[in-house]
Amino acid sequence: MRYLEPHAHMVSRVTDDYIQMATAGCAAICEPAFWAGFDRCSPQGFYDYFCQLTEHEPKRAAKYGLPHYCWLCINPKESEDVQLAEEVIGLIPQFLDRPNVLGIGEIGLNKNSRNELRVLERHIDLAARTHQLILVHTPHLEDKLKGTRLILDALKADSRIQPDRVIIDHVEEHTVRMVLDRGHWAGMTLYPVSKCSPARAVDILENFGAERLWMNSACDWGESVPLAVPHTALEMRRRAWTADAIDQVIYRNPIRFLSQCPNFKVT
Ligand SMILES: [Zn+2]
Repeated sequence: MRYLEPHAHMVSRVTDDYIQMATAGCAAICEPAFWAGFDRCSPQGFYDYFCQLTEHEPKRAAKYGLPHYCWLCINPKESEDVQLAEEVIGLIPQFLDRPNVLGIGEIGLNKNSRNELRVLERHIDLAARTHQLILVHTPHLEDKLKGTRLILDALKADSRIQPDRVIIDHVEEHTVRMVLDRGHWAGMTLYPVSKCSPARAVDILENFGAERLWMNSACDWGESVPLAVPHTALEMRRRAWTADAIDQVIYRNPIRFLSQCPNFKVT
């Protein structure tokens, strides 16, 4: 089996996880900027984090033959302080020409607040001005439907954004259709305690098709499973998916989307 892990927060994982992922057939790992489990109190904290994502973590992954890519932003959970967010957004352009940067993400909404929406619009503007791909985080549980609608409208409101250069992550049964209908890609997050189980993810694929969908573990500091993507491939096998159809979802689809960024290469 070969697969990509298109959304994993490796800074919060132990090195053993890299070994497990490489052994399971992982060909590359992509790490969106996210919350660190605590709120950072200054732009300097984000500067160091961006250095970690662009300098240190690729070296740790390379020890196990794993290419490591990243996305940059201030995540929605820390976007309530608009002044802090604007200062952090101001730091990002100097990192955009680093060789493992894929784009702006994971931006989006957490509690669907007015300030989060303002910061989302700033990020969309940054991505449009600098011609970057976008990776979007959608809110959890009861806030997801409303938040997904707000995000889709914010993206549509900026005419410079090409829908197929945006992936909306953490979709579920009730949000996947609206994301695909707008021309975006959709990501399913496989989580043991919330979001999609492997069985639900395969149900979604069987109902909505596998054309512009990918799966990820989003493994982070919380309860999560770094091998969730290959585990879900086993569920697909159990349901008699062909090896080629599985390969499309877990390997070729993420490569197709990410190859829109010239930095992204899988050998
Ligand atoms: Zn994430």
